Amino acid sequence: MILLLELAENISAIRNPMTILHLIVDKMAGMIGNARCSIVSINNEGVPFVKASSDLALHEDIKLELCRYPEIKKALNSKQPVIINDIKNDPLMDSVRTQIKGLNFNSIVVIPVIKKESVIGTFLLRMATPLSDGVTKRIHKLCQLVANLSANALETAILFERTQTAQEFFEEMSIRDGLTKLYNHQHFYSCLEKEFSRASRYDTPLSLVFFDIDNFKRINDNYGHTHGDMVLGTIGQLTNSIARQSDIPARYGGEEFAVILPNTTSEGALEMANRLGSMIREHQFECLDGEQVTISSGTSTFIENNAQSCDQLLQRADEAMYKAKSLGKNRVSQA
Ligand code: GH3
Ligand code: MG
Ligand code: MG
Repeated sequence: MILLLELAENISAIRNPMTILHLIVDKMAGMIGNARCSIVSINNEGVPFVKASSDLALHEDIKLELCRYPEIKKALNSKQPVIINDIKNDPLMDSVRTQIKGLNFNSIVVIPVIKKESVIGTFLLRMATPLSDGVTKRIHKLCQLVANLSANALETAILFERTQTAQEFFEEMSIRDGLTKLYNHQHFYSCLEKEFSRASRYDTPLSLVFFDIDNFKRINDNYGHTHGDMVLGTIGQLTNSIARQSDIPARYGGEEFAVILPNTTSEGALEMANRLGSMIREHQFECLDGEQVTISSGTSTFIENNAQSCDQLLQRADEAMYKAKSLGKNRVSQA
């Protein structure tokens, strides 16, 4: 747990995504004896490339033939972790039985790294653990946490490759908030202006979900600012993970967030806000020893609310959010 916190703190201090991925694999291999750890990214065509590995100094990404890695293939297809306790006898490895004969590891954990509902890569741990021990629950959980921790860095690394030039990359970074990787206030507002004028021109619905973390000051006071930052980062990830491709999730400021939902009615906005609320409520925040975090949300919808400007739409969502607070927090209120 302490090592994990140290890792999280190091990560928040490093800006280069590749340095972060290398740090993660090295620390993780060090944490678990006799283990090799890798982070694999998936390109647009679904081809996996090793981006960082604890046992290799990589000078360039290594392409993997998926047919030789049934465990990775299964994790990609199912979007679920794959755990193999005994690779020499597991039926999943039948197709590669001869290739794995000489390998000196016995168990494998593959955790898919998911962003915006799609798998952008996998976190891979291979261990020489004796057969009887297998992969313990503790190791599985640790891998899941570290995979989540890798998601932002991996996304940034992929983004860097996909953008043609460094300039494009920095332009992309300049519209994002550094801590949560969601869009920043300035970009949020310019998108809201554009979406509002589009919605009023074509008479299409436009919704806004505005939310604020409940009792966040107490979280900072009880656990410290660094842990408070981790909570903000996780809430950014959770928000991103349920946003659709067309949604625009942003950190409005401090511990306040907003999501623009183009072409979405008030029912859609309510559903999104409720889903987000329960996802955050049910999330196990490791950095808070499992303590629950809740949010209060307000929604407003153009046409139905008859807002005359994007500022009015924003103001109504903000007022609705305050209504949710005054009704006892941990709920959604509609304008
Ligand atoms: P309520 O339930 O009414 O929203 O109460 P609250 O304690 O969440 O509300 P309040 O607005 O009084 O406190 C918000 C706190 O959020 C105060 C501020 O120190 C903290 N905060 C703002 N930005 C950051 C940040 O980037 N990191 C951390 N760790 N804390 C932040
Ligand atoms: Mg606040
Ligand atoms: Mg608050």
